[in-house]
Amino acid sequence: MSEYCELPGPGSGSAIHVLPDPQFDPAPPADAREQRAVLAGGCFWCVEAVLRELDGVLAVTSGYSGGDAGSASYERVCSGGTGHAEAVEVRFDPRRIRFGQLLKVFFGVAHDPTQIDRQGNDRGRQYRSVIFCVDAQQAEVARRYIAQLDQARVFAAPIATLVEALQAFHRAEDEHQNYAARHPDQPYIAAVAAPKVAKLRRQFADWLAPGRAQSASGHDLAPLTPAQREQLAARLTPEERHVLLDHGTEPPFCGGLLHEHGAGVFACRLCALPLFVSTAKFESGSGWPSFTKPFDPAHLRQIEDHSHGMIRTEVRCARCDSHLGHVFADGPPPTGLRYCMNSLALGFQPA
Ligand SMILES: [Zn+2]
Repeated sequence: MSEYCELPGPGSGSAIHVLPDPQFDPAPPADAREQRAVLAGGCFWCVEAVLRELDGVLAVTSGYSGGDAGSASYERVCSGGTGHAEAVEVRFDPRRIRFGQLLKVFFGVAHDPTQIDRQGNDRGRQYRSVIFCVDAQQAEVARRYIAQLDQARVFAAPIATLVEALQAFHRAEDEHQNYAARHPDQPYIAAVAAPKVAKLRRQFADWLAPGRAQSASGHDLAPLTPAQREQLAARLTPEERHVLLDHGTEPPFCGGLLHEHGAGVFACRLCALPLFVSTAKFESGSGWPSFTKPFDPAHLRQIEDHSHGMIRTEVRCARCDSHLGHVFADGPPPTGLRYCMNSLALGFQPA
């Protein structure tokens, strides 16, 4: 058993899926104040981090479902033989968010529902995708929505999510509760959970709890309107525009920030969101400014990039969606990551 969930590899999937709303998602009874859902979608740290952001979600708890109480411990569940899946229990106000809307985020952001008994490099039945339904109506909403999404071919493969009746939910150990928020620099959280939260904030800005469009470091992550983006883009040079807006790459060893060693912050050239701190900059020898970690993981969005015959992880600004560069798993300690950025995509703000 590894100490952490595994870092993602090729095929771990952060492709962009735009899901339709569920066609069947009944209004709650007039006196409904709180409902419960139990969802398993791989590593519970990630699913919890995403669902906590939503308006109408009252509480999210990480735990285990699908096995018995005696074996519901992290160590035993991670061994894969207990029957449990890592799961989260969501308590929500159905007047503000319905069960089907939770499923839309669960399928579209929190995990990849087409993977069977795994999520990315997390492999085993404990990482299977399951909706543990608390009543017959949840099961009907879930089954109809899965059929709707499969019919619309939203995903490249059929949805593998199981729909089962909830038997029991066992709360995980305290150290696993709200893990992502408490450990933003942990490599798995930075590489896997943070991009999902960033994706949620971009795609579901209207669904976030008040204040959630801010990063933990207190910066506004509300996406730009097309007019705002156009206004900012008008200030760019043709070279900056090529990198930021057209997915370009500047030639190596030419960028103006390659040898910038002053203390300060490197921000998005388009929207000025802080992206890297000078203390995380290092000489990689690659010819591009390189960093070991972001200013705030929520400020970057990572997507799989299949261009030029390679599988790479592209890095974009989480607020304005501009292209910045790529991240590779060959960096130095403490993260082992190398954020390889274009100078043209960044602006340096001396401390
Ligand atoms: Zn930006």
